[in-house]
Amino acid sequence: MPEDPTLTFVPRRILSFTRDADGDWVARLECGHRRHIRHRPPLADYPWITDAAARASKIGAQIECERCARAELPDDAAAYRTTTVFDETTLPAGLRRDHTTAAGVWGRAEVLAGRLRFVMPALAMDQIIAAGDHAIIPPGLPHHVEPLGPLRFQVVFLRVPSPIEPAR
Ligand SMILES: [Zn+2]
Repeated sequence: MPEDPTLTFVPRRILSFTRDADGDWVARLECGHRRHIRHRPPLADYPWITDAAARASKIGAQIECERCARAELPDDAAAYRTTTVFDETTLPAGLRRDHTTAAGVWGRAEVLAGRLRFVMPALAMDQIIAAGDHAIIPPGLPHHVEPLGPLRFQVVFLRVPSPIEPAR
């Protein structure tokens, strides 16, 4: 895949709609992000957002998530599991070839010592993570890692808790 950032496009399904304190509509997406949808032509052309039936018909439809394209962890994502600490010899083979997290699950690849190459082609990401740093892994995006010498490394899994607001 060419490393062209203009190709970055991460479609996510809409789970529900809510309104913010100003009355603007917000779509809750399967990735855990919330995305404002406002009809402000010509910059934002979403005439259906103020119509209840049209809105309901969009549940399950996909919309682009710019925050996923920037690999931004959702604000309210909470860690629920951490792998054991791997080194360059115990790092599972499955992590060295392209794989994805489960639906709705975010990863935080944390390098505790040494250096790790982190590759996520969909976001044109090919970077070296140094000790004390990490990479954020959005749900469903193929990625792999490659140890660069002696290493200590773990992955923290996070997800957004189910919303308390009613679906609309
Ligand atoms: Zn997202």
